[in-house]
Amino acid sequence: GRKFFVGGNWKCNGTSEEVKKLVSTLNAGEVPSQDVVEVVVSPPFVFLPVVKDLLRPDFHIAAQNCWVKKGGAFTGEVSAEMLINLGIPWVILGHSERRLILNESNEFVGDKVAYALSKGLKVIACVGETLEQRESGSTMEVVAAQTKAIAERISNWADVVLAYEPVWAIGTGKVATPAQAQEVHFELRKWLQANTSPEVAATTRIIYGGSVSGANCKELATQPDVDGFLVGGASLKPEFIDIIKSAE
Ligand code: 13P
Repeated sequence: GRKFFVGGNWKCNGTSEEVKKLVSTLNAGEVPSQDVVEVVVSPPFVFLPVVKDLLRPDFHIAAQNCWVKKGGAFTGEVSAEMLINLGIPWVILGHSERRLILNESNEFVGDKVAYALSKGLKVIACVGETLEQRESGSTMEVVAAQTKAIAERISNWADVVLAYEPVWAIGTGKVATPAQAQEVHFELRKWLQANTSPEVAATTRIIYGGSVSGANCKELATQPDVDGFLVGGASLKPEFIDIIKSAE
């Protein structure tokens, strides 16, 4: 089976005091063992070292982005090599906030995923449609194109978790229904089956993100193709522990 995966994306939030407090809350939380659930939290770059020092060893860390190739004269960027050097195992790439606000294209995200994997990072790769795209019936076309730009550039799917995050559900309190999430996850798995390999389709975790909470996670987690969550707002609260517990 696919091990349940819960990611906490802290986005651009927190002071060093708040971050330390959140880490102590997480460290005190009682959660299922690592055989049952893989937990990854994703602080802003500047807090990666302190979180790495303080976080419990059964939780892992992701950066929220990295540069598309080897570091150098790229002001303001952080390279995959730097994350590896710091001992950060994971990176989130292609989040909708970066695709839509920072104008990252499907191809650019695909290049980032390929480069990060080539340096030994594991990748949480995000896809998802806007409300307008959903309403016009192009959800699958959009997420397939986003996934294709990644699939064309990589073969190492063992180090990838695919996060389906419908943009209309992010930060809105409008969570996808379990049936809506399941439908897209099922279609994504079918897409992987047809375009990568049956093994990749069967083993790749597809997690859901968008207004996941302690109250709605249980029902979402019962869906056969929902292999976990990428949590934004609720990952900054003690509620994150309850979401981790939905693994069992
Ligand atoms: P919210 O849980 O705040 O809706 O954010 C989801 C998200 O974007 C996680 O990457």
